[in-house]
Amino acid sequence: MGNPLLELKGLPPFSCIRPEQIEPAVDDLLAACRARIEVLTERSDPPTWENFVEPLEEANDRLDRAWSPVSHLNAVMNNEALRTAYNACLPKLSEYGTEVGQNRALFEGFRAVAGREHLDAPQRKLLENALRDFRLSGVDLAADKQARYKAISRELAELTSKYEENLLDATNAWSKRITDPSALAGLPASALALAQQTAADRGEEGWVLTLDQPAYLPVMTYADDRGLRREVYAAYCTRASDQGPHAGKWDNTEIMDRILALRHEAAVLLDFGNYAQHSLAAKMARSTEEVMRFLNDLAQRSVTQARRELQALAQFAEEKHGCTGLEPWDLAYYSEKLRQHRHQITAEELRPYFPLPRVLDGMFAVVGRLFDIRIREIDGVETWHPEVRFFELQDSGGELRGQFYLDPFARGKKRGGAWMDVCINRFHTSRRDQIPVAYLVCNFTPPVGDRPSLLTHEEVETLFHEFGHDLHHLLTKVDYPAVAGINGVPWDAVELPSQLLENWCWEPESLALISGHVDTGEPIPETLYQRLRAAKNFQSAMQLVRQLEFALFDFRLHLEYDPPRGGRIYEILDQVRARVAVMKPPDFNRFAHGFFHIFSGGYGAGYYSYKWAEVLSADAFSLFEERGLFDQDTGLAFRQTILEQGGSCDTMDLYLNFRGREPTIDALLRHSGIKT
Ligand SMILES: [Zn+2]
Repeated sequence: MGNPLLELKGLPPFSCIRPEQIEPAVDDLLAACRARIEVLTERSDPPTWENFVEPLEEANDRLDRAWSPVSHLNAVMNNEALRTAYNACLPKLSEYGTEVGQNRALFEGFRAVAGREHLDAPQRKLLENALRDFRLSGVDLAADKQARYKAISRELAELTSKYEENLLDATNAWSKRITDPSALAGLPASALALAQQTAADRGEEGWVLTLDQPAYLPVMTYADDRGLRREVYAAYCTRASDQGPHAGKWDNTEIMDRILALRHEAAVLLDFGNYAQHSLAAKMARSTEEVMRFLNDLAQRSVTQARRELQALAQFAEEKHGCTGLEPWDLAYYSEKLRQHRHQITAEELRPYFPLPRVLDGMFAVVGRLFDIRIREIDGVETWHPEVRFFELQDSGGELRGQFYLDPFARGKKRGGAWMDVCINRFHTSRRDQIPVAYLVCNFTPPVGDRPSLLTHEEVETLFHEFGHDLHHLLTKVDYPAVAGINGVPWDAVELPSQLLENWCWEPESLALISGHVDTGEPIPETLYQRLRAAKNFQSAMQLVRQLEFALFDFRLHLEYDPPRGGRIYEILDQVRARVAVMKPPDFNRFAHGFFHIFSGGYGAGYYSYKWAEVLSADAFSLFEERGLFDQDTGLAFRQTILEQGGSCDTMDLYLNFRGREPTIDALLRHSGIKT
């Protein structure tokens, strides 16, 4: 029998994929890609779309189609052999990526094709993106500069991974054992059980607290002992720095300075003024001024309300709990008390109203009405687990547009969280007609006995969010994988469809379709709904300014970098905080030393993207508010101007086509209950 990863025709044959076949298949496919590139770059006739770009896309698509089920299985059916095979392939794939990015002959080929006429818009966009990415990998530089660029890239890769390692080591190094349970008063049963389990795992008696999120957050939110909260806070916000219990041991100070210096140098080599400009080269935002204006505008309109919210919190803490002089380690604790006092709502209360079968049918009905599509389940398709289901999506003309797997429940060996991932890309040429396929993965509580899985409202929102990504991938009409679906969509815009869809979890008209009591089928009582709505915007201005603090800090850090002056990390952070933070943290706070998103996570000069995409989705939803939650014309317009277009056009142009104007921040502020 041959290797199934090399003979993929339709859907992946999950049950036939063996770990020992993975590395040989990837080796084979990479060799085929390299051979294809060699043939293409050595041919003597002029490169065209058909003889140059398409064959390359085909080779890459074959590799993607084999790798997708492998990385998917690694995430949802993990085991030792699979993980070993997967990890063995990662460096090979990244090496290939680097090699392609720096292949001068390939770059020249793309440039020659781009110079020809008779290309449609998606083709032009694909070439434009490809040329941009070649340039961002330094392919177009003179030899000496290119050598320097490569050296910088290598050093940056080492530094960012060292930053992350330090943070991980520092996080793992701290723990606190507690033998007197009264010291943990206030913690919910789940947090106590975790602390007890951690102790047992270490062969110790009592309870052990750590700085991992599932252990850290409950302490900050619920622990009655103020001294304990302060101690845990101090350990957390000094990780990998010159302060705190492990001061100097895994200190990221020099690494951060060096990362900023090298990013700036690399950006300048590529003819950008700074790394912030470099980051925007592949994003929707058009200039650094636009990003700064956007963030400052949001800050100006929310900071007063945020300070009022803090005042209300301080007053509540003093009047109800006798706490004066609110400190950073009191914020989450009293906020939770205030939230309960005002809204008395728990996630568990909503569960009986959201049985998964009802939510799914309802969600399909919602998107069916909105986008004029039909979704139906198909039985008998081979999957990776008996719980997995398979669906088909058709438009009202009866055309099959895409298919998706749904893997809904948490289980061992499956990665946590929820996500959409690409299984097969749409690829349409004279020689092939490949429809898109997606994986939709969640981690909901499995059904117990004959009772269906019951979701919290937040989980329902998560499902809608991921389904928004799913529709973006499946409804694409773009023919070439590199700009079809979510591919080629800028980072600061890719969350538009997902966040837009979340809105249908909050409106009475759509809630009626997706909810119903598990025993009686009754709708959510009006009073419960009102409490859910009211709690939605609890302290929303405080949350907004916190995100703005991170985004402004990140962006200014990269925008204002000046080699002779160095990183000025805490100088800039202090300036940002003076403007937008509601509470000044203590002097020992070393937030930046643990801000991995921007130093090792790919969000450098890009943290603003979170808010940017929220502005887009809120502004897009405001058109439905104006014209009706289920207005067919608006739904169809969104399908045609955004969902079907993928990354094939400039995102702002697509948005203009849908909305008729550029986005404004008004809808986001209004939805968040921020009064200006
Ligand atoms: Zn998302």
